Amino acid sequence: MKNRRTFIKKSGLALAASSLPMGLFSVPSKKQKLGVALVGLGYYSTDLLAPALQLTAHCELKGIVTGSPEKIPLWQQKYGIKDGNVYNYENMHTMANNDEIDIVYIVLPNKLHLPYAVIGAKAGKHVWCEKPMATTVDECEKMITACEKNNVQLTIGYRMQHEPVTQKIMGWAASKPYGPIKHLHTEAGFRNNANNPKHWKINKELGGGAMFDMGVYPLNAVRYCTGLEPISVSATQENTRSHIFDADETTFFTLEFSDGITAECKTTFAEQLNTLKVDCAKGGYTIRPFQSYSGVQGTTLDGKVLKPFQGNQQAKQMDADALAILNGTPNEVTVPGVEGLKDIRVVEAIFASAAKNGEHIKI
Ligand code: NAD
Repeated sequence: MKNRRTFIKKSGLALAASSLPMGLFSVPSKKQKLGVALVGLGYYSTDLLAPALQLTAHCELKGIVTGSPEKIPLWQQKYGIKDGNVYNYENMHTMANNDEIDIVYIVLPNKLHLPYAVIGAKAGKHVWCEKPMATTVDECEKMITACEKNNVQLTIGYRMQHEPVTQKIMGWAASKPYGPIKHLHTEAGFRNNANNPKHWKINKELGGGAMFDMGVYPLNAVRYCTGLEPISVSATQENTRSHIFDADETTFFTLEFSDGITAECKTTFAEQLNTLKVDCAKGGYTIRPFQSYSGVQGTTLDGKVLKPFQGNQQAKQMDADALAILNGTPNEVTVPGVEGLKDIRVVEAIFASAAKNGEHIKI
């Protein structure tokens, strides 16, 4: 399930390392900290990732890629970014000649993850890509192929899988402290006021909509809680504001697993929702909030409390993912491209079912 693929950064080591058995990584760099270039300087890069990169031990913010020239002096001043490490979307490929940048972190509208991940991979940079990995299975496969061909690692920014309360319950998929899981109920959403009707998050064309934006949290959660892949799905969608935006506002989906487990999921741009409830044969647990940047906490039916993590989720995620590259070893917490693809395969089935008014679709 975790990334066992050999990834070898383009270097003099590549030839020798290519004869290593699968599961070993070459050590690509003697650097203490790997250089990260953020690609796309919108909300998530500005408010979360750049500040988190000031807290990381194994990677640092070295470069930016932006189509907004007015942002450049602000970012250079705030984060000490050199002129030579500032790129736009047209010249991003020239990063191939820049040894200060080891990783491109794609933080763009979902439909643009593929093209810019490919440019980064071809430039010989490891690729970190925000969730959702892409908008179709075909796009995910192309990203995986591009990274494999260029011997760089592809990692998806599923920050919850780095969050300690979440990691605890992920471990329960195997240890089953409350017996087998029977049913899951999970919801993620927020009120998107759609103040800017042109914003990509509410337009289908660029991969907008609640399912791609928030729906991957419940979907990924039911997969990491059970450690299983769903075998069928039934989904419906609602849009009470179709005059403002064309992407889904609310998606309901029910997933079925081979051993009778079912998961009822909801995602929406209409209201705040943030709960994950797991019912087991001998008890169960609730995580609420389950996908926030901080304060993720849980309670079990037998009275245990899973206390919130006090650190920075994004810094923890990026350090773990940088260490996987620096150590040249597989890393159990790094989320590879194939994991992002598995979610998108289910999302495609969800959309197919919703288009047929909830018809059961086999996955
Ligand atoms: P945003 O709209 O705030 O930022 C997107 C950036 O892309 C903007 O700077 C915009 O200028 C740029 N851009 C480049 N080409 C564009 C084009 N053709 N059309 C529109 N914008 C273009 O979005 P965001 O909230 O920062 O989300 C970016 C990515 O990060 C998405 O994939 C999103 O799912 C992900 N994200 C993840 C989390 C998380 O918790 N892991 C949180 C928020 C967003």
